[in-house]
Amino acid sequence: MSQKKARARKAMFSLLPVEFRQSAIEGRGVFAKRAFQPGETIVAYAPKQTKLSADDPGAEAAAATRFTLMSQDGFVIVPDTSVPGGWLCNHSCAPNALLFASGEGRIQCARPIAAGEEITIYYGWVSRNGAPRTPCLCGAETCRGIVELDVTHEDAARVDVTSGNLATRDARVAAKLEEYAEFLRSIGQEHVQRTIASTLVRMKQVNRG
Ligand SMILES: [Zn+2]
Repeated sequence: MSQKKARARKAMFSLLPVEFRQSAIEGRGVFAKRAFQPGETIVAYAPKQTKLSADDPGAEAAAATRFTLMSQDGFVIVPDTSVPGGWLCNHSCAPNALLFASGEGRIQCARPIAAGEEITIYYGWVSRNGAPRTPCLCGAETCRGIVELDVTHEDAARVDVTSGNLATRDARVAAKLEEYAEFLRSIGQEHVQRTIASTLVRMKQVNRG
């Protein structure tokens, strides 16, 4: 019985269309074993995961860890990092894939990817009040240098979020958000604005509490 189980697991892994190995960007990365076309799902974000409800007492602490995904349907997805998956994708300022946080979370092809290419996504991380930021090592011509969008609590307080859209009456904050939105559009990652919006909503809630 246990032998049968082990064989099933091995087969599942050999069918994965990606491999996980050392990346020139950073640490372990995700690499295509075959070509992908836009729209295709490449790999699950976390084949093994814990899904917490956003109001779970452990959710706040989990949300602060690096690979946790804020799902758009009110869940926090915490990958079991003993099992490789899309959570190993490196960030790039010119990514070839999209990270979707709905359901179980998945990595989807954004533009044609050749076998052997590294799969990269846009994290949509937000840093608060200039807190330690992550240098971006993606090497793209359009690299912003830093992974995060830095937002102060004052900025966040001036932003309203209605059905995933960001709006503000403050001209300075509006200009900052518009510049970022424009950049995201230029790299085909408009959907990251929803990730930013969810984070800003949480920042406002934490601030109030
Ligand atoms: Zn970059």
